[in-house]
Amino acid sequence: MSAERVASLHSWYAEWRGLKVAVLGLSVTGFSAADTLAELGADVLVVTERADPEYARLLPVIGAELHVGPLDTVPDALAGFAPDVVLASPGFPPSHPLIVWAQESGIPVWGDVELAWRVRDKVVRPDGRPADWVLITGTNGKTTTTRLTAEMLVAGGLRAVPVGNIGTPVLDAIRDPAGFDVLVVELSSHQLWYLNLQSGPEALSPHAAVCLNLADDHLEWHGSFAAYRDAKAGVYARTRVACVYNKADVATREMVEEAEVVEGARAIGFDLGVPGPSDLGVVDGILVDRAFLEERATSALELTTVADLAEQGLSAPHVVSNILAASALARSLGVAPADIHDALDRFRLDPHRIQVVAAHRGVTWVDDSKATNPHAAGSSLAAYPGAVWVVGGLLKGVDVADLVRARGAGTRAAIVIGTERGEIVAAFERHAPAVPLFEVDHTETEDVMARVVELAADVARDGDTVLLAPAAASFDQFASYSDRGERFARAVREWIAGQDEGSART
Ligand code: ADP
Repeated sequence: MSAERVASLHSWYAEWRGLKVAVLGLSVTGFSAADTLAELGADVLVVTERADPEYARLLPVIGAELHVGPLDTVPDALAGFAPDVVLASPGFPPSHPLIVWAQESGIPVWGDVELAWRVRDKVVRPDGRPADWVLITGTNGKTTTTRLTAEMLVAGGLRAVPVGNIGTPVLDAIRDPAGFDVLVVELSSHQLWYLNLQSGPEALSPHAAVCLNLADDHLEWHGSFAAYRDAKAGVYARTRVACVYNKADVATREMVEEAEVVEGARAIGFDLGVPGPSDLGVVDGILVDRAFLEERATSALELTTVADLAEQGLSAPHVVSNILAASALARSLGVAPADIHDALDRFRLDPHRIQVVAAHRGVTWVDDSKATNPHAAGSSLAAYPGAVWVVGGLLKGVDVADLVRARGAGTRAAIVIGTERGEIVAAFERHAPAVPLFEVDHTETEDVMARVVELAADVARDGDTVLLAPAAASFDQFASYSDRGERFARAVREWIAGQDEGSART
């Protein structure tokens, strides 16, 4: 198919038949792309190193071909297929031989979000317009903010759904026959890297966008911090109404300043301080909007209070930041303050995000296993000063020394887990030598958390918190961050049960 024809494919109802697409990767994203493309009538070859058996079984049913095998060089099956487009799952880094091959061969490379944007007119609203898109990225807080935003929009009477990196592929929402008013799209830096390959007036143009914060993460995938940052910055491109940024994180404001947005789009700041006009913020414990009202020079609208949020376990500073960001997005779509308040009344954080798993004899045990990078762990340590800190895992090429320098000395003790303990231990020796440090060198997944809890219980005093905020990925010893958190919670409960039994006997 000619390059012009590929470039013209900008509607569900365009002529997709005859287009040859190689889909790289077969997990939830790859399958949603293959399934959509097959439904559109394209010829689809899925190329993958490992295939989920359930998806592999479905491919012939939907009429797509499958090639499974090593991908360190371009397989003959792929070269022979001569794709018009390569559609990559977000697991494929820019340096992957297949991505390099596609780019050097001049084959357009798309992500699943690009395809979703092109076919977003499958189901339209009563006025004929497709759903508005709201984009959410950042190093931390994406999932929480995405859920918050979607719930606020729903409370405001809009048909909204959280999609993207959060779990449900965007293409699944596009193909939902009921249709939506708003898609709230969580984007990882990987998905943004693929989106940024597109340009021009037809490329993704969101109603509103936010980059919540920027810190080191996923450096191995992107190759450098600058590349990671540039990927995230793309979230604001072509924004139509509101570019929401974090006043406490200058990197996010710079992204907005640099962004090519649609004429008339506004920059809306948020942070925990007193807001200026066009900002959201906090005044005397009240969260307020000073952006989306006519009289913003002189007044502000109350959204909720920190005291109300505290009752829901939502008052940690980083959670309040996420709430302000989500409120800005919801307000940009006209949701009333009272509806935002209602949504917050019902909202609960997902598991493994500063989740209190037990309180026993004056010690609170908190699972923040989702703190998979130093920036996230820093925000939980700020919320629990003096905690016994359980830290460590796979560091993903990210430096933890700065975090230990900033927060290490403020901890009661540190318990270091994982296979990459050396860097963390060295950072403590250098920056916080007075803090008691324990290493768990157990390699059996079964044993790690039992030992952690024993050590933590020994060192924690009345009034202390034991905080699992590893600042690292989990895959060296656990199946996932949730497996890590669940094992921690189980070990805590077992230890408490053992204690209570012991004291019942004496
Ligand atoms: P993501 O989807 O970006 O991983 P989550 O909402 O799942 O974000 O939160 C992940 C972890 O990041 C939380 O457990 C918490 O430790 C931390 N976190 C959440 N929001 C923020 C924020 N705004 N700033 C810093 N850390 C945060």
